[in-house]
Amino acid sequence: MKIQMVDLHGQYLKIKKDVDQAIQGVIDSTAFINGGEVKEFAQELAEYLNVKHVIPCANGTDALQVAFMALGLKPGDEVIVPVFTYVATAEVIALLGLKPVMVDVHPDTFNIDVDQARSKISANTKAIVPVHLFGQCADMDAVMELANEFNLFVVEDTAQAIGSVYTSKDGSTTSAGCIGHFGTTSFFPSKNLGCFGDGGAIFTNDSDLAEQARVICNHGQRIKYHHSIIGVNSRLDTLQAAILRVKLRHLDSYCAARQELAAFYDEALKNDDRFATPVRSAQSTHVFHQYTMKLREDINRAELQEYLRQNGVPSMVYYPVPLNEQEAFASDGNYPVSKNLCERVLSIPMSTEVTPEQRNYIVETLTNFIQS
Ligand SMILES: *Cc1c(COP(=O)(O)O)cnc(C)c1O
Repeated sequence: MKIQMVDLHGQYLKIKKDVDQAIQGVIDSTAFINGGEVKEFAQELAEYLNVKHVIPCANGTDALQVAFMALGLKPGDEVIVPVFTYVATAEVIALLGLKPVMVDVHPDTFNIDVDQARSKISANTKAIVPVHLFGQCADMDAVMELANEFNLFVVEDTAQAIGSVYTSKDGSTTSAGCIGHFGTTSFFPSKNLGCFGDGGAIFTNDSDLAEQARVICNHGQRIKYHHSIIGVNSRLDTLQAAILRVKLRHLDSYCAARQELAAFYDEALKNDDRFATPVRSAQSTHVFHQYTMKLREDINRAELQEYLRQNGVPSMVYYPVPLNEQEAFASDGNYPVSKNLCERVLSIPMSTEVTPEQRNYIVETLTNFIQS
């Protein structure tokens, strides 16, 4: 019984016939770049998300970069980001000469603390990036209120939360990534909707912004060989689009499988106060890109991980270092919640393919841990 954090091969085997056929179809057509499957996938994803425009691109990092470029932000403009996130969120902000302004997160949901964001707004603040971490939405009502009050652009980093649904105070429901000016996502293989390489997409309901993002992804050209703005080359391969079309049809069942495993872990660990299980936001569904626990203060995480490893249970720390302490982003400021999370979080296997036997073994092994 070999347990992995994510079992991509097992997932593939269940849809092998359809995926293989899709891949062969692209090879037979040789339309490797901008083939019909790319447009069809974009349309199908737009329908799934109920958003007007989906612009496919090369990866989730590009999606963020293109979104910021399309918003026309200028060097020196400030963009608010949470410090407890994957580096890509802040990287592209810095690359474009924008200034990442860091804020802490909530200790329960791990998502951006909007009150703190408010306290960091200056005359130069132009945008805010809620990251829907581990699969559930940030407090988008609060984000949008703040954005409306200060005229900020909102770019939702939805790389970990595709398929999650947010319920606003007024009762309306919206797919993660489709509330702000732009949503961005990644189809990295281990993401909830993953392809067999790199891929990404940008979502928006704003037709002008969509056009701008499309032109930027395509070398800044509206007419072939006529370049009106500086763009980039960021495309989703036809092969990847063909695979994603097959997998999109299974996304709801993939989300359900993750949620079922999460519910099992919750139940199995609820009486062991060494492991605080993930807190669900009342306003968002959770699609469990990761199942991330908070360890009790006295638990030695390194020792626990080593014990798990020796017993064949993989675990990961997402993320060990807050953004403000990364060498590349070193910045002053105090982010006690994120710092504490970086020391205490632990993610255990979460995928669509964990068997009943495996999940029993995972929780048995966890609860049998005895600290030296
Ligand atoms: C994966 C991820 C990205 C980047 O996606 P890539 O496709 O790897 O470039 C950005 N933000 C978050 C939160 C992610 O998890």
